[in-house]
Amino acid sequence: MEQFSHINKNKDYVRELQEEVGASVDGIYGPGTHRAVRDHYGNVIFHMGKVVPIDFDVEVDMSAPLYELDDGTKNWYLRKKDPDSICVHWGGLNSRHCYNVFNMARGRHVSSHFLLGYNHKQQKLEVLQCLDTGLVAYHAGKFNKYSIGIDVCMHPDQKYWEKTQNWYPDASLQVCKIPDSRVKGRKIVMIGDEFAGFCEEFLSALRKAVDLQDKPICRDNEVYAVKDAAQFSIVGHHNISAKKWDVIPWAEKLYHNID
Ligand SMILES: [Zn+2]
Repeated sequence: MEQFSHINKNKDYVRELQEEVGASVDGIYGPGTHRAVRDHYGNVIFHMGKVVPIDFDVEVDMSAPLYELDDGTKNWYLRKKDPDSICVHWGGLNSRHCYNVFNMARGRHVSSHFLLGYNHKQQKLEVLQCLDTGLVAYHAGKFNKYSIGIDVCMHPDQKYWEKTQNWYPDASLQVCKIPDSRVKGRKIVMIGDEFAGFCEEFLSALRKAVDLQDKPICRDNEVYAVKDAAQFSIVGHHNISAKKWDVIPWAEKLYHNID
């Protein structure tokens, strides 16, 4: 039930929702209510403490929550106003590996809202929602409070190439030609069409679901002050920090072509 802990803070809302979707009305959001919500709305995310439909084919999986870590601490704080932007990272070797890293953060401030990647046990691409967007996650420093964090769970470094190609057979090793000093000439793992397409579709759907579709997407590699970055609906971590290079080599395939 940890995955429903934030939505359960508003009993009146949960009661209203249960009435709306035809679930038994007890003011407690549990697996039964979640099933009824999905039957009623289709695919949903948890956005600002409420369920919001999302137009995406693969069910957003709530089974990897980060509301309370294994050591009893938490890696989030309450958001005061709606997020302005979506910030894209890479993280972990695959989706469950990334989740385990966040879940065992042991005092480090690292977390994210959505993890996209290959589930090696179920052998399929998946989307995990680890935190309600109404909570600020720790993924981009001063930009955290403005943004929703997304982790594309594939490692860019050739050090992990052997493992990576098991999970992402359409990935490839390439020398990056993008004229940015953070990546130019670096040998990297390039994201393949299937996984990139999956991520692109989700990012496009999320941008609409959280009502950011009227704001432009950042399609350059400039580093912006957080207030300026917040003018974009989607940015990469490389737009926030000069030290970060996620996700320069993949950004075009991940989100530059979203309308
Ligand atoms: Zn990052």
